[in-house]
Amino acid sequence: MIYLNGEFMPLEEARISVLDRGFLFGDGVYEVIPVYSRRPFRLEEHLERLEYSLAGISLVNPFDRGGWRQRIEELIALNPWEDQSVYLQITRGVAKRDHAFPVGVKPTVFMMSSVLSIPGPELVREGANAVTVDDFRWSHCDIKSISLLPNVLLRQLAVEAHANEAILLREGWLTEGAASNIFIVRDGVLCAPPKDHHMLAGITYDVIVELAHANDLPVSIGPVPEEWIHTADEIWQTSSTREVLAITRLNGKPVGSGVPGPMFKRIYSLYQEYKHCVMKGENAVS
Ligand code: PMP
Repeated sequence: MIYLNGEFMPLEEARISVLDRGFLFGDGVYEVIPVYSRRPFRLEEHLERLEYSLAGISLVNPFDRGGWRQRIEELIALNPWEDQSVYLQITRGVAKRDHAFPVGVKPTVFMMSSVLSIPGPELVREGANAVTVDDFRWSHCDIKSISLLPNVLLRQLAVEAHANEAILLREGWLTEGAASNIFIVRDGVLCAPPKDHHMLAGITYDVIVELAHANDLPVSIGPVPEEWIHTADEIWQTSSTREVLAITRLNGKPVGSGVPGPMFKRIYSLYQEYKHCVMKGENAVS
């Protein structure tokens, strides 16, 4: 079951106009919210980021927090899985094709949910493959825009190199992954780039930093030069659907010892513990 412009309906019945600005211009924003045991994970943070993205493209939020919460809960209840991935998208609506914002047009609001597919035990045990590529995206990557063509092209470069993710470098500095944030471990310190307009402020990124702080793991948030990527002891990717995953091969070469490192194993188990607290309705970082 999906939600479209005020109604819940089966996916097959959903119809939108070919004049929708999401279709014509990619003029919209989105969110992906993981749901464990039917409880949305970090919902307030996702709704806050949605507000930021909407403001970033000058689109009025169609609902307040309570309105979103209620619709998301209803969508979760209407779908069969315990663990889900809720996708929501708002576009600038349907209007005669013209680049300039249309006046008096209602935004299109769409939500769907699918079964949450997180990395399986083998991938967690062995780690993923990544390649480094040039980050040729625009300079508002902090907005979760549905205009994802650059990310699509970058992820495809990874697929063609038989890798799971593309690690993006902008003028010699790490930004993020094509669809994830990237952390490295260097001399026992967890390093990640600071949140700015060249990367999406990941909700999972925040969870990882909070868990590291709460458990006295050394963290350094600051610019990460390309050279550190190639000499890192560990590399991780984080996202709502991949959680935290070690990258054990980069550009065909092993990262560190070529297996998920000790710091990854620690943070992975802290993340799983935290997730289980959330499933039980406890929301604090352990
Ligand atoms: N960066 C990009 C480009 C992404 O697409 C994602 C996944 N939404 C992330 C980072 C990770 O964000 P989150 O942890 O909120 O899923």
